[in-house]
Amino acid sequence: MSRLAIESLRKSPNGFALQIEGARVDHAAHPNDLAGLFYDQVAFEEAVKVAVEFALRDGETLVVITSDHGNANPGLNGVGREYGLSTGMFETIKGMRSSYQAMSNELRAASSVTELQSLFKVKLGLEVSSEHCQQLLDARNNNPLRGLTLYSFPTAHLAMILGSYTGVGWTSGAHTSDHTIVTAIGPGAELFHGLVKNTDVFHHLLAARDLRFTRNRQITREEAERMRQDGDTGATVEQHWL
Ligand SMILES: [Zn+2]
Repeated sequence: MSRLAIESLRKSPNGFALQIEGARVDHAAHPNDLAGLFYDQVAFEEAVKVAVEFALRDGETLVVITSDHGNANPGLNGVGREYGLSTGMFETIKGMRSSYQAMSNELRAASSVTELQSLFKVKLGLEVSSEHCQQLLDARNNNPLRGLTLYSFPTAHLAMILGSYTGVGWTSGAHTSDHTIVTAIGPGAELFHGLVKNTDVFHHLLAARDLRFTRNRQITREEAERMRQDGDTGATVEQHWL
């Protein structure tokens, strides 16, 4: 898709601006879905490769790679004696064949320990213990995490249990405040050096091509607040995950 987009836009005599978003990484992070996150990140890396290879050939293209925020902070933890189990646990990702979303109907329909065990084996390549599967079944009626602010989303308990097999833990199911990568290649790349506020990325992109942005009407904080109270935000609010 990235290749097609570039091939189509490069014909423009005035140059082009293209945003390629690996949005499903975020979608998978919200429910703490390790396989979904990892393989969509790999797909994003492939898109980056296409863009960078084009920029290197073209010589006139600025490529900026960044993220608008972190999400759920997945992290590989030390497990076992001298943390010797961590690498093998992390490698279980190689055996995963499904995101939570793709297996959600079967997850909901599974009504016994053995059904859950076989689902995890087939879809995630994991041998999940009968105790853990029983915990998941019990949690449908009485989720022990429901009262915990950071872990009250529907798949939190599942993610915690799978962490016993992958070594990966999560801080929540929400966007986070941590720093994210920003890197660039091509003419203007020096504008993205060091610590960059994400609200400055847009202005740096304009500066790189000496563009002025004047078209959108700017509103004050007071006007925005008034619009919010009138319900006139023009935006619909929905959970974009699950
Ligand atoms: Zn999000």
